[in-house]
Amino acid sequence: MITSSELIQIVKSYDQNANEELIRKAYIFSMESHGSQKRESGVPYFYHPLEVAKILAELRFDTASVITGLLHDVLEDTIVSHAELEEIFGSEILFLVDGVTKLTKLDYTSARVRQAQNFSKFLLALSQDIRVLVVKLVDRLHNMRTISYIPVMEKRRKVSIETLEIYAPLAERIGLYMIKDEIEDIAFYNLHPNEHRAITDKLDEIKSKDHDFVTNTINTLSLLFNNYKLNARIDGREKKAYSIWKKMQKQNVSLEQINDIIAFRVIVETLEDCYKSLCIIHTNFRIMPGRFKDYISIPKLNNYRSLHTTVIGPKNQKIEIQIRTREMHKVADEGIAAHWSYKSGEVVGGKNEVTKSGWVKDLVAIVHNSKRTNDLVDNYKLEMTESEIFCFTPKGDLISLPRGAAAIDFAYEIHTTIGNSCIGVKINGKMVPLRTTLRNGDQVEVLTSQYQKPEASWITFATTGKAKSCIKKFIKKYEKTEFITLGMHLIKYVFASVDEDFNEALINYVKFLCTDLNDLYYKIGKGIISLEKIRQILSFDSINITIVRDAINVIDFKPGIATHFSECCHPIIGDTVLGSMVPNLGLFIHSTSCDNVKNIKNEIIKLKWNKDDDIDIAIIAKLKLLILNEQDSFAIITNAISSNGGSITNIKVEHRSVDFFELIVDVRVRNKDHLGELQAALRTCSNVRSVRRL
Ligand code: MN
Repeated sequence: MITSSELIQIVKSYDQNANEELIRKAYIFSMESHGSQKRESGVPYFYHPLEVAKILAELRFDTASVITGLLHDVLEDTIVSHAELEEIFGSEILFLVDGVTKLTKLDYTSARVRQAQNFSKFLLALSQDIRVLVVKLVDRLHNMRTISYIPVMEKRRKVSIETLEIYAPLAERIGLYMIKDEIEDIAFYNLHPNEHRAITDKLDEIKSKDHDFVTNTINTLSLLFNNYKLNARIDGREKKAYSIWKKMQKQNVSLEQINDIIAFRVIVETLEDCYKSLCIIHTNFRIMPGRFKDYISIPKLNNYRSLHTTVIGPKNQKIEIQIRTREMHKVADEGIAAHWSYKSGEVVGGKNEVTKSGWVKDLVAIVHNSKRTNDLVDNYKLEMTESEIFCFTPKGDLISLPRGAAAIDFAYEIHTTIGNSCIGVKINGKMVPLRTTLRNGDQVEVLTSQYQKPEASWITFATTGKAKSCIKKFIKKYEKTEFITLGMHLIKYVFASVDEDFNEALINYVKFLCTDLNDLYYKIGKGIISLEKIRQILSFDSINITIVRDAINVIDFKPGIATHFSECCHPIIGDTVLGSMVPNLGLFIHSTSCDNVKNIKNEIIKLKWNKDDDIDIAIIAKLKLLILNEQDSFAIITNAISSNGGSITNIKVEHRSVDFFELIVDVRVRNKDHLGELQAALRTCSNVRSVRRL
């Protein structure tokens, strides 16, 4: 186990401005947080994050990455909270650790994850900061190195498949070849031990049979280049077992037929020399058609540049030759970190200079350039997607949605019943309105209630076809029954308004307007037949409508389809209210103090609330808040509302000045008393200057 000082020493060797204190703190923090936890191998758990941090430092990644390596498992595996991490290490580290945690939580075997068209694309999009991905890859590297300690074979296989299908291509994608080669080889060994052995045996055999082959070929080539007076370094590299096996699969050949197991490299000084070398090789050896590739003119997506050709070599053997400059070689060999260090040479400069101007930028550029060509990593065209975002369920399931999708779309994407019974949504732990637009990587928790029904207004902010059609379908289905119920209440109301007992026999008189009684109720409820008309037909005196023995019970209705809590005054339970019928839309409920009431031309219907306070139907009230324009002002008020049982369905900023925000907040409350409590709670917030109900 290396000490914190040793770790710091490695970092300091390439970044003199590294924050020593913070690395030391992270070292101790991680050790203490993981406490007595053990790895499968029996060693203290802390060895793992420490090893990850060490590898990151050896790869010359920045201080934040190294610290993230130390802390990458504390959110997932210990009691450490987000807040604590942020307080001690700041928001950048929290962001990185949280990102790695999200990737870790992702269950690759879940059907939803597999459904994601392109998982790697998702990982890239999700990582946001490429360092998240780098730490995750190094984490995987160390887990692969210690995979033999996992006792369950099935689990080893699962991890290995994941490694081959996801992590190795990603590592290649961002130029971390060292990691790619190693994790691939370990995964291959665990998945196909026999094939792995057969190939490595064969490699040994070839080497022992003709152990001069490599040396001889190198000598022949060196001599040739000398004759042409071209300065070149030539070496031979054995291919990895896994890449040979892949080639066997792809070209459908047996191990015996594979003879370009050794790749020769010609390393020269200049770009011009690369093409000269190619010319020399092609003039002196017979080329294999279709095997020449110019990755200098068209580099691979990960910046790999080299000329590849296969020729019949000096010993009448097929040999593959790669030609490149020293700089290209360094990049191809060590990945992008080398590319950066080569470019910038000795890096001196302010704090963070290393991160901001160095390889991070390069990595990001590589990822973003991926649209250029598509010849890399066969199955993994890692395009950053513009039209798609990816969010999580709290369990780590992945939901992909079109960009611009709202929280309500997420709910419907999980399941229709979840959408239909959705009462609220938490994004990354915070209550937000259903209309909130989701961002890549959001963790979304949907709160449901068996009493909830879709509201017509959801249509206005739902974006996916699925959500829209579900909401419409639901509304259509319930519309009829709601209008019928409303119509029935209204006709009883007509009787009451003239002090007559409700009389079914009398209703039969008006039935001729409709196909049956339900149809009559429906048409009245929907306002297609006016109450005035009913009175006329029943010969009630239409002028004498002032006596109302009984008002309609509002509680019998749920706002949304046949009855509406009007937008102008947002009445809530406990307010004195009245209603007006609007043809085709149903009953609109206003508070009696509403300014719009005097303008209502339709008949005003008397309404009352049930006495039963326990009925828990959610109603939306509008509040106008004046709050200080401070950084966490929004958090304070949303917290005050949600911790008092209210939920915000919408927030609008009306005015904003240097000092103040004026907000209109729609809150869902149970009743007038509940709203009173909420207002009181808001008034106690330090940043709230005034609270007024609209
Ligand atoms: Mn880990």
